[in-house]
Amino acid sequence: MIKTKTVQIGKIEIGGPRFTVIAGPCSIESENQFNQTGQSVKKSGASVLRGGIWKMRTSLKSFQGLGHDAFDFIKKVKAEIGLPLISEVTDARQIEDIHHFVDAFQVGARNMHNYSLLKELGQQSKPVLLKRNFSGFIDEWLKAADYIINGGNENVILCERGIRTFETATRNTLDLNAVVYVKKHSQLPVIVDPSHAVGISDLVPSLCYASAAAGADGLIVEVHPNPAEALSDGDQALTLETFDKMMKQLEKVLHAFDRGLNKP
Ligand code: PEP
Ligand code: MN
Repeated sequence: MIKTKTVQIGKIEIGGPRFTVIAGPCSIESENQFNQTGQSVKKSGASVLRGGIWKMRTSLKSFQGLGHDAFDFIKKVKAEIGLPLISEVTDARQIEDIHHFVDAFQVGARNMHNYSLLKELGQQSKPVLLKRNFSGFIDEWLKAADYIINGGNENVILCERGIRTFETATRNTLDLNAVVYVKKHSQLPVIVDPSHAVGISDLVPSLCYASAAAGADGLIVEVHPNPAEALSDGDQALTLETFDKMMKQLEKVLHAFDRGLNKP
């Protein structure tokens, strides 16, 4: 095992002894939806908020995110909740737009190979959550991280979010091999996104527990107050109540490994 370097999102340390849960909606849809979800996941024990402002959707007809229209209320909600925020940049020009109110940038699976975006993020000081492409080899993922690190930004967190296999019963296949491999071969912290990995909300909690048991540094989980009405990824979103239940069980799993949750 190589000792993991820690990376700070706001005041939250990722990669240390404590386990970090990042949670929130796939897409930020309205002030009320973001506020309600954020307040609730904080109460349940999440220490970082997530929420998409721009979405990389397979279909152009799908909801593409609120974009600039959401900036003012996002700042307000974030201040009210008092947790750091991570959001995806789908284009290098968006870094400038959001760097003053997000605490970390997410690179989506589809952009793991977008080397010009990675180089731009290498010029930033805020951390970058680098998702693994669904067809990316572990080696390509680690080499993609080098593009950010070599630019001078060492604050990279890896995220395993499921890969494409022959299996179609679930959205993707969670590759826990990748998590244990990376813990052994890289200094970078690694977290798991069970929501995109499995794509079915009922199955998400079990993968949260498995990720903790496998030694991941944390989770990023999609949560929505009313998944049936979600504008993106409703099938995989936990409700506020199921997220709360999952967190209680997760603490027991962490306890079995002499670990605890990172607290805000
Ligand atoms: C997301 O986090 O909502 C997302 C689009 O994830 P991915 O890039 O892993 O598909
Ligand atoms: Mn999503």
